[in-house]
Amino acid sequence: MQEYSFSAVEKKWQDYWDAHQTFRAENGSDKKKFYALVEFPYPSGHGMHVGHIKAYSGLEVVSRKRRLQGYNVLFPIGFDAYGLPTENTAIKTGVHPRQVTDENIKKFTGQLKRVGFSFDWSRVVDTTEEGYYKWTQWIFLKMFENGLVFRDKTMVNYCPSCKVVLSNEDSQGGKCDICHSDIVQKTKEVWYLRITKYADKLLEGLETVDYLPNIKLQQENWIGKSTGAFVNFKIKEQDEQLRIYTTRPDTLYGVTFMVMAPEHPMIQKYRDAITNIAELDAYKAECAKKTEFERTQLVKDKTGVKIEGLTAVNPLTGKEIPIYISDYVMMGYGTGAIMAVPAHDTRDYEFAKKFGIDIIEVIKGGDISKEAYTGDGEMVNSDELNGITNKKDAIAKVLKVLEAKGCGEAGVQYKMKDWAFNRQRYWGEPIPLVHCPKCGIVAVPYDELPLKLPPVENFEPGTDGESPLAKLDSFVNCKCPQCGGAAKRETDTMPQWAGSSWYFLRYCDPHNDKCLADMDVLKYWMPVDWYNGGMEHVTRHMIYSRFWHKFLYDIGVVPTPEPYAKRTAQGLILGPDGDKMSKSKGNVIDPNDVVDQYGADVLRLYVLFMGDYEKAAPWSEDSVKGCKRFLDRIWALQDTAMRS
Ligand SMILES: [Zn+2]
Ligand SMILES: [Zn+2]
Repeated sequence: MQEYSFSAVEKKWQDYWDAHQTFRAENGSDKKKFYALVEFPYPSGHGMHVGHIKAYSGLEVVSRKRRLQGYNVLFPIGFDAYGLPTENTAIKTGVHPRQVTDENIKKFTGQLKRVGFSFDWSRVVDTTEEGYYKWTQWIFLKMFENGLVFRDKTMVNYCPSCKVVLSNEDSQGGKCDICHSDIVQKTKEVWYLRITKYADKLLEGLETVDYLPNIKLQQENWIGKSTGAFVNFKIKEQDEQLRIYTTRPDTLYGVTFMVMAPEHPMIQKYRDAITNIAELDAYKAECAKKTEFERTQLVKDKTGVKIEGLTAVNPLTGKEIPIYISDYVMMGYGTGAIMAVPAHDTRDYEFAKKFGIDIIEVIKGGDISKEAYTGDGEMVNSDELNGITNKKDAIAKVLKVLEAKGCGEAGVQYKMKDWAFNRQRYWGEPIPLVHCPKCGIVAVPYDELPLKLPPVENFEPGTDGESPLAKLDSFVNCKCPQCGGAAKRETDTMPQWAGSSWYFLRYCDPHNDKCLADMDVLKYWMPVDWYNGGMEHVTRHMIYSRFWHKFLYDIGVVPTPEPYAKRTAQGLILGPDGDKMSKSKGNVIDPNDVVDQYGADVLRLYVLFMGDYEKAAPWSEDSVKGCKRFLDRIWALQDTAMRS
């Protein structure tokens, strides 16, 4: 049997595809379109890994099938090239990030071509190119113009090792997403995008798209919409109301204490009236050392301090209620204070037991001497609510009572916070805003875009969390576009998520220098028919990009309210030992080695034959060999055909 001599065959056809631009998609075609999108890679110095191969091979097959079916297929690729690993390489080696990026893109391009993916190479985008980030800045300025950009002093997650401020998304688990060091809390003034304004649109849009159910669910949980009530508790000693948010206003008669975040402004305001302020200050200082994750997620003993000198009053019963501060309440969610109902909330129950606070049953069904009862049941000890047996009716009734008394109203809260939109690093899109002592924050005029990233010698960030750009006087000092006076440029850059929030639009019309993409072209290609990528990107990246797209739709720049009609995700490829591939475990498979040894077709065939595409599966060298034998047999068919 003649063995399949893959290297000669693959080279021959890859050269042919290159020379003939075989997979070029046509704008303005009469054919039906099919737009297949894969998540563009971050061009790291390590080159491609097997995860890329699996992620791209699924839609590779679908694209080839659609071409055979007569569709005009857009299957593009590009590079999401801003970000910290490149910058850290630059700091270490002294090589400019531009050069590092160019080398890495070249390496990736060679590898992707060698695997034989049928991408349209005439449409490659690179988020760090001036012609691209000009439009990233343009979108940002449009958001600024429309009141979606704001500046706020806040507690931020700061990585002392990378010296950057990180979004909550980039510091999950209290660890830096980039270097995995512990993050600390720091006060800083930063830029935000008002993504919360789009929370409802992002939720409603999910009903119109075909995403895998677990992807939809993850997005819903990320946005975390809850309905409940805002309730005002009078402070007995002051002319003041403590405002709280609760999803369970039906349990108001069971409130036996209140909890404020240690950072709650009321504590500063009434410092002189509080008799144990030193104790509160000491507790707050301890909290500042902890991350949000440690405060809210880690299972631990409840801690807190009672505020002496401020007492809350239950608006329904007139009963006086003690107020505590505790680290499990955060300023960033709701109003920074909660009402506690220990009989029917597990966390409140633990706290009440520890501090010897009363526990009042208002819903029958459990044994509150043993634990909190969180199920449904008949309302008791609740005056006008007594006898009601379901939560919905009880909430409706108590809302009426609260509204009639003027001490509360129905309300909605989201878990999703506004998007901290900044990095204090060099290798990112400059934020096109100017600080003028007279005019305040002024936008760089549109005709001056792109605001170019200036060359610098030293990429090290400042120790106080400032960007390296802040050290560059020629960049910082500028004229105010509004009054012409001396002003200073913003020196923060955009986070890496910026460039990937709209790249699928640029693929449609990648060389346009008049607008981000022509409307007629977008009308033909959009929405993306099928988007495939990793599960790790179905919240952050997908919610951010849906937000940008919905904003662009609202200002009339794109033709569809949703960017992606369909979304799937591939399962991880595990190491041969069944563990997640990692350098430290020494179980990493390099796809280039597989191509060298068996050829690209064997590699592609194998990742698709590994099992359920959505499930994780371990690498198996034996199965790779099986795929090779299979292709050898197909190759041998030509002899059979010639003989007959
Ligand atoms: Zn870090
Ligand atoms: Zn000015």
